[in-house]
Amino acid sequence: MRRVLLLMIIMLQAVIAFAEESSISNQVRQRNLKATEQYYAQLISGTINNGAELNLIMTMLPKGADLHNHYSGSLYAETYIDWLEKLKYCIYNENDAVLQVEKFRIETKPLISEAGRKKCLTADAVRNDKAFYREVLKRWSNKDYNNHYHEQNAPDQQFFDTFGYFSAASNYSAREGLNILKVRAKAENLQYLETMFKSAPDINNPNLAKQINDLPQNASEKDIYQVLSAYADLMASDPDTQQKITNYAKSIEEAAAGVDDSEFKIRFLSYVSRNNPPAQVFSGLYSAFACTQKSKLLVGVNIVGPENGYVAMRDYKLHMHMFKFLKQLFPSTKLSLHAGELALGMVPPEGLTFHIHDAVEVAGAKRIGHGVDIGHESNALELLEVMKTQKIAVEVNLTSNEFILGIKNEAHPVNLYRRYHVPLVISTDDPGVSRNNLSSEYALFVSRYKPTYNELKEVVYNSIRYSFLQEEEKAIELKALSRRFDRFEASIAKLTRTGGKLN
Ligand SMILES: [Zn+2]
Repeated sequence: MRRVLLLMIIMLQAVIAFAEESSISNQVRQRNLKATEQYYAQLISGTINNGAELNLIMTMLPKGADLHNHYSGSLYAETYIDWLEKLKYCIYNENDAVLQVEKFRIETKPLISEAGRKKCLTADAVRNDKAFYREVLKRWSNKDYNNHYHEQNAPDQQFFDTFGYFSAASNYSAREGLNILKVRAKAENLQYLETMFKSAPDINNPNLAKQINDLPQNASEKDIYQVLSAYADLMASDPDTQQKITNYAKSIEEAAAGVDDSEFKIRFLSYVSRNNPPAQVFSGLYSAFACTQKSKLLVGVNIVGPENGYVAMRDYKLHMHMFKFLKQLFPSTKLSLHAGELALGMVPPEGLTFHIHDAVEVAGAKRIGHGVDIGHESNALELLEVMKTQKIAVEVNLTSNEFILGIKNEAHPVNLYRRYHVPLVISTDDPGVSRNNLSSEYALFVSRYKPTYNELKEVVYNSIRYSFLQEEEKAIELKALSRRFDRFEASIAKLTRTGGKLN
């Protein structure tokens, strides 16, 4: 009896000690939170007028995930020049109509003429020619676009053209590229990356393709579905197609092997280019949906490319029907769609009235990439309400929108989405092309729109909540994110205590 009593007393003491410890840590946590809130309020109100300090704090800030980034646009041009060396490719340093070569383009063929060789520089030669090296960096990315006068293309053309320049080098080593992105992500306190990595494979059946490509603009949903069904049936029953899809999923698993660790995860979105002919878009989309069933690393599907392109605009509604059709075949596949990456004047105004709506209501997108033209949508208020209640998150890419669309500050719809409580996430889009990182995007977000610390945290948590991870994985990542915030707030509190003010 006495022994039982003793045991009970020991247990009671342990419970009290545990309660004390957690209440102390809760107290400390609250104190750290308060100190961080105060410090952050000073930082964004201009009391501490120091852009470098803002960058420092935004680099330290736990940022959860980057949910909108394109793999090949995320690596810097310098990496691609390093890879040229390994691939034994060269870059032309001038145009030549007779040789049919273009300045800044990569030559991938080893056997070029003597005349061609003279104009094609190895990676080393490019680096040694300081003026040309700088020119390559400027053409392969947005470097120096705005800081001095020089001959330049329109910004959207400059942006999208960069991919054509570096694409031959980008295939060198997916594993090495993913590891570069991982190291960079971890250095700025990220724990998860969801990247658009590789376009899905397509097949060509000329007879069936013609039926899709010849669909009239006003074709009924029934007519559209009839020709899509025929193509989907073919792809489902053709062993070569199935093999291609399996190989694609396998290639992604191979590239990603060993990238995940206890503090970092990577997942992939498959995609197609919206400026391809309709049958090719559909064929790629079928593969993109199908391969999400083949690998857990492939967590969703997207559609990419300039939205203001002639074909992209012409086929937008058809593309949304393709998504709707494929969602019926693959109901568990999640969609994040680029939609509304347009500004008034880029296309006739009717083109700005329905893209986000159709991505949400027809295609069934769970996230919207950009969503910049929301203010021009026909029924914008109803759409905002739908996005709020159905929790459709908007991926905000501030630097990219400023560069490609010329939309920034108050002209950007960030405050409209905030006002209607549509969930936001902050992302990079193409940090290699834009030469930015996620921390600098957060610095823009907080300095321009001045969210409270609480709202800033919500936006960070959104990046895990609205990711396409499985629910159990999300729960683990959310807990890890809370621990990261505990550490972050503890260091901010310490900073304000010891020496206190950084200004
Ligand atoms: Zn994008």
